[in-house]
Parts: sequence; structure tokens; C-alpha cells
Amino acid sequence: MALIVQKYGGTSVGNTERIKNVVARVAKYRAEGHRLVVVVSAMSGVTDNLIKLAKEIMPLPSEREMDMLLATGEQTTIALAAMALHAIGVPAVSLTGAQAGIVTDGVHTKAKIQNITPKRVHALLDGGQVVIVAGFQGETLEGQITTLGRGGSDLTAIALAAALKADLCQIYTDVDGVYTADPRIVPGARKLSEISYDEMLELAGAGAKIMQLRSVEFAKKFGVIFEVRSSLNDNPGTIVKEETKSMEDVVIRGVSLDKNQAKVTLIGVPDRPGTAASIFKALAEAAINVDMIVQNVSHGSGTPTTDLSFTVDKPDLLKAQKVIEGLKKEIGFRQVTANEAIGKLSIVGVGMRSHSGIAARMFDTLAREGINIDMISTSEIKISVAIDLAKAEHATRVLHQVFLGA
Ligand code: ADP
Ligand code: ASP
Ligand code: MG
Repeated sequence: MALIVQKYGGTSVGNTERIKNVVARVAKYRAEGHRLVVVVSAMSGVTDNLIKLAKEIMPLPSEREMDMLLATGEQTTIALAAMALHAIGVPAVSLTGAQAGIVTDGVHTKAKIQNITPKRVHALLDGGQVVIVAGFQGETLEGQITTLGRGGSDLTAIALAAALKADLCQIYTDVDGVYTADPRIVPGARKLSEISYDEMLELAGAGAKIMQLRSVEFAKKFGVIFEVRSSLNDNPGTIVKEETKSMEDVVIRGVSLDKNQAKVTLIGVPDRPGTAASIFKALAEAAINVDMIVQNVSHGSGTPTTDLSFTVDKPDLLKAQKVIEGLKKEIGFRQVTANEAIGKLSIVGVGMRSHSGIAARMFDTLAREGINIDMISTSEIKISVAIDLAKAEHATRVLHQVFLGA
């Protein structure tokens, strides 16, 4: 008898038929004698729609109220899923994130989990219930409702699996595993039977929204092995786990495209010590994640000036612009511009550590396609470039062809 944490994403619970399909699977595992904790997302499109409603009221709503609003999406699904289990005679109880003991910091809309005390979950499991937990949400020690960032139900599942010391953690979604690229963009992408935490981290950080980045960080930190698989069939999925020796034989594990970044450029920034520190400190204080950064060669006499570009997640763009405008007096740059038409394209693989010439091959491929590279960033196992969004999907397919052969 195992303790299993299952997570079902938005499409998997997208309508009542799908919810019935999900609970049939839950009931099957329970009938085999397992204990089940089921994390669910909001029905597909619901979170996006709630955000749209809020923006119709005002462009930059209070983040506390945003969390109040967004948490309702998952609260709908937990109740429906519990009812669907009751309808087929399975005892089940739904819990909000707070009721499941998920305590977070107070950074609304992207709160971090601080600890989990799943007393109530344990008690309900002991009483023979299936426990349905709302993904994506938690509560501060002061009792404020928070959310964990887009895609955050993945994090709820991984964190609960760690806290409950679950035997198995299964992430059910609308594809049957992690592929060498997003199959919606690259039809020839192949399913991976396994992938290391580090590669999954880089892919997630590079925009592969199959798993939320922070959920993979959490899994790595606590050694939670999990499987990504489909809620629509019984195909074996992809196991995400610690790197093994044989994984290094593959140079490039996957290609990914992030269409969710925007580039901010500060023009005419005085090039003196402390300027970059002031800019990025202010952004960090506003909880804005900065990804790629490029600073140009400075020019001019006296205090020379330079141009500084960086990328942020698109939903943070307005907030970032506001923060930067607020620094204008202190720093004295000339102008700030924003470009939402960029795509960040990345290739990832642990085998890159022991192979040279990968970057040259990537840049050469893009050059042959007439694609200009705007920004570059690298890690030991990843190379990313920012390019024109209009060419980004084509570029993804070309790179997949060159490095992964399909
Ligand atoms: P869920 O709602 O279940 O959390 P998501 O929409 O967040 O599902 O993630 C699943 C989607 O991730 C897939 O439909 C697919 O289009 C996309 N995706 C991006 N990159 C990959 C990849 N490398 N492998 C598989 N799917 C990917
Ligand atoms: N409903 C949330 C979102 O759409 C969380 C999730 O689905 O994981 O981002
Ligand atoms: Mg998701």
C-alpha cells in the first residue's frame, strides 16, 4: 500500500466530463489499496479569465486582492472533484491550501512555501478519505491567502509529496511526458523516458511550461522523484530524477522557447559604479525576476553613458517600467523602452559540459536562417538567445532538427 500524490492540471479538469475521468483513475488506485492525495488546478482558462477581469477594472490591481481572486479558481475544482468521488461512492474531502497546512511568505502572486504542516491531511487519510487539495495557493502566518506563481499547482504537489514522504508523485497533464521540445511547436519532438532535475530546471526556466520552475527546484532540493504523464491514457511518462552517468551521453536533451518574456532597455545610462546595483536592487525589492541582461560598451567623455537591456516575465512588464521610471531622478538615464516581441530560445543538455562547439553550431544555424541574435546567456548546461518573436517558432524547429534530428 503506497501513499500517492497525484496532480491534475487545468486541461485534465477542464470540464465535468474530464473531472469524472480523473476521479475514475483516483478510484482505481484507491481500489488497489493505496492512499491518495489529489492536487488539482483551476479548470483550463479560468485563471487567465480571472486575470482578464481584474485588468478590466484596473491595469495594476492590488496583489493581495489578486490572490483572493485567483485562489477561487482552484477552490471550484476541489469541491467538484470531491463531489465527483462521492458520486461514485468514494469518501473524499476537499481542502484549500491553507487547510492543508501550506504556509507561505507574504509575497502575493508569487509566494514561496515556508513550511507545510499536513496534520489534517494525515488525519483524513487515516480516516480512509481521499484528500483533494487546491493547488497554487497557501496562507501566510497572518492568515492572508497567497498564490504560488503561474503553474503553481505543480509546486503544491511536489511540496506535499515531500512533506508527506509520499511513495509516488505523479503529475498528470495533457501530454504523456516531457518531450525534446514542445510538441505543439515541434511535431517531431520525442518523449524522454527520463530527465535529470538540472535539465528539467533549465528547460522549465527556458519557458517549457510543462513544469513550473520552482516546483522542479523544490523537487531537486528534497529529492522528490516524480513522473510526468497523461491524464487521458496509461502510457508510461517521463521520470524526473537525479542525474545518472548515462545521461551525459546525450549532448542536447531538449530545445525550448519562452514567448513570455519582454525586454526593457534603458538608454543613456551614466556608466558609474552602483548604477546596475540600484536598478536590479529596486527590481528585486518589487519581486520582479530578471532573466537575461546585456550592457553595451559605454561611450562619451566625462561620465560616459551606456545602454542596458534586461528581460522580465511579460506580466511583470508594467510593474518593472513603473519601478524604472521611479529611478529616473536618482540614476539619470535618458529614456526607457520596452519590447514584447521577443522569444527566448534555449538548448539544454548535461552532455554540453563535456562537448565544445555547441554554441558556435547554434549561432551558425540561426545565422543561416537570417535570424539576428539580440541577447545571449549561458549556463554550464544551457545556451539561450533572445530573438525576434515572429521567427521564434521556426527557429525552434530548425534547432531541433539540427541537434535532435527531427
Ligand atoms: P497543466 O495544465 O497540466 O499544468 P500545462 O499547460 O501547464 O499543463 O503544461 C503542459 C503543456 O506544456 C503541454 O500541453 C505542452 O504544450 C507544453 N510543453 C512545453 N514544453 C514541453 C515539453 N518539452 N514537453 C512536453 N510538453 C511541453
Ligand atoms: N491555475 C494556476 C495557473 O493557471 C495554477 C496551475 O494551473 O498550476 O497558473
Ligand atoms: Mg502547468
